[in-house]
Amino acid sequence: MNSADTLQRFSFDNTDIRGEVAHLNASFRDVMKRHQYPAMIAIELGELMAATALLSANLKFAGRLTLQVRLPGNVSLLQAETSEKGELRAIARYDDSVAVEELSFDNGQMVITIEPEEGQRYQGITAIEGGNIAKAMEEYFEQSEQLASRFWLECDGENAAGFMLQKMPAMESSDVDAWDRLTHLASTLKQEELLQLNNDVLLHRLYHEEEIRVYEPSDLKFFCTCSKPRLATALMQLGYDELDTMLQESSKIEVNCEFCQQHYSFDRAQVDELFPQRNPH
Ligand SMILES: [Zn+2]
Repeated sequence: MNSADTLQRFSFDNTDIRGEVAHLNASFRDVMKRHQYPAMIAIELGELMAATALLSANLKFAGRLTLQVRLPGNVSLLQAETSEKGELRAIARYDDSVAVEELSFDNGQMVITIEPEEGQRYQGITAIEGGNIAKAMEEYFEQSEQLASRFWLECDGENAAGFMLQKMPAMESSDVDAWDRLTHLASTLKQEELLQLNNDVLLHRLYHEEEIRVYEPSDLKFFCTCSKPRLATALMQLGYDELDTMLQESSKIEVNCEFCQQHYSFDRAQVDELFPQRNPH
C-alpha cells in the first residue's frame, strides 16, 4: 500500500537538502473518470498533477498555483491546478480528430502561475521539450530561483506520484557531496516503487544510511472550484449580444464545466440579471 493521496516533506540533517514525495491515486482517477483521454495524455496529465502537488507546498497563503504546458501541435494544452489545501483539478486539450498514434508533445512552454487571494499574481515561463515535465521543472528552478532541483514524475494510468529533491541556498553544508549522493540514490527508484510503496518503506529503501527527518503528511484531493457565479462571470465575457442570440435559438444557455463536467444552465431572466444596466426597470 502506498501513502494514498498525500504530500510529505522530508529533509536531511546536516545538509541544505530537502525533499517531497506526492501520491495521487483517487484524486488522479477522479480527474480521469470525467474525461476520455487517450493513454499518453492521461499519463502526461498525471505527471503534471504530481508536479503541481509537489509545488503546492510552496503556497504559504490562500490562493492557487497553476501549471500549464502550452504546445503548438495537436496536443495544445495540459493544465493542473492546486489550492494551498492540496485541492487539485486538471484538464487537457487536444485535437480529437487526429488518430491517437499521431498525437505528440511538441516543444513548447511551461507556465507557472501563482495567484494569491490577496496580493500580486506571479507568472514564470520556461521551455519544455517533448513533454518532459521533470526536466522543465528543474530548468525553471535553476533559472528563476537559482535552486538546484531534481524531479521524478511517474504515472501508470491508474496512479501518479512525484518525488523531488531541492538544494536550499542559505546554509553552508559540511557534507559537500550530499547532493550528488542523495540524487544518485533517488535515481535508482523504479517507476513501480515510487507508485506503489508507502513513504516509510520508500524513504527507508533509498536513505536508510542517511539522517532523514520526515514531516507530517498533508492530504491531496480532487476538488473543482467551479460554481454558478463563476460560470456566469465567464459567460459575461461573451457580451450581451452574443448571449441574446443564443437565447433566441434556445430557451436556455447550457454550459458544462470543462474540468469536472458539472452542468449549469442559464435562462433569459438569469442572463438579464448579469447585465443590470440593460434592464430598464
Ligand atoms: Zn467544475
